[in-house]
Amino acid sequence: MLCRKSLCFRLNPPRVAQRREYWYRAVNHQRLFGSWNTLRTVMRSPMFYAHIAGVGTLVGMVYCYNLERTPISGRVRFNIMGESMTQQLGKKYYEREMERYNDTILPPTSTEHSLVQRIFERIVASPGLAADTWKLYVINDPVRQAFVLPGGEVFVHTGLLNFCESEDEIAVVLGHEIMHRLMQHTSETLSRVLPIIFVDYLFSLASGIDQDLVGLATDVMFLLPRSRAQETEADYFGVQLAAKSGYDPSAALSMWSRWEALEEEVVPVYLHTHPPHHQRLVSFHSWLSEAKRTRLQGRSQVFENAFALQRCFCALDRHP
Ligand SMILES: [Zn+2]
Repeated sequence: MLCRKSLCFRLNPPRVAQRREYWYRAVNHQRLFGSWNTLRTVMRSPMFYAHIAGVGTLVGMVYCYNLERTPISGRVRFNIMGESMTQQLGKKYYEREMERYNDTILPPTSTEHSLVQRIFERIVASPGLAADTWKLYVINDPVRQAFVLPGGEVFVHTGLLNFCESEDEIAVVLGHEIMHRLMQHTSETLSRVLPIIFVDYLFSLASGIDQDLVGLATDVMFLLPRSRAQETEADYFGVQLAAKSGYDPSAALSMWSRWEALEEEVVPVYLHTHPPHHQRLVSFHSWLSEAKRTRLQGRSQVFENAFALQRCFCALDRHP
């Protein structure tokens, strides 16, 4: 995968779930029937539907109150975390990652870091990106991976660098990661995951169905589709950002063509955290003419609109 989010999905290996014994053991039948009988009794109460309506109204009010527009793309989304709380969590993530990769982070003087840093600086020099809020780390690790934290720390593994055949391809990767942070995708993901984990727990407790199984079902229904949508959003705006910085957007096509050729295991789309490689390739094809125009003009209307409204970057408030 191109990018790894700091938040880990609770997706169990599907092979486990395919075993018949697992399905049988995953359900506590005694508790399930007990809960069903209790529910039927409670439903006969005249106050039951009043309580359901009350709770539903409260949940609806909380949901509506926390709706907002995604920076840059303007998509309406639920975000209960807020940026300040996410930044606090981001510090924890940062400490954890630094501890994990402490021995493998390359020094800024290394050839690999210098190369990526040059591209990185050119991209974050775009107006409004508050260049001094970003930091780059290159990890000496063969995994083809890059990720970003809410505090603006971008991590790139040398495995991905070695896979890239040009600076344009590295720029596409960096643009993608930068966009995840600018659009505050971590806040959005946490806002979905935390209530769902809570509901999973309650449902599992009441129904007697294994919590991992409930978690798998809610991941497939609610979390993974949103994750794929975020990745597509970061792909689209990331390639625009790379093009705006002067890099060739067609590099995305060459990179994803090679990536698709390497794909070995066919996993159903609905189990992916990211869109399938061939789908990303099709998307980049459809965005190419617009991205080329952005490169030619050195400007992107979508970014200019976002800057003009001053609602896109949290860092913009600190660096007017
Ligand atoms: Zn990503």
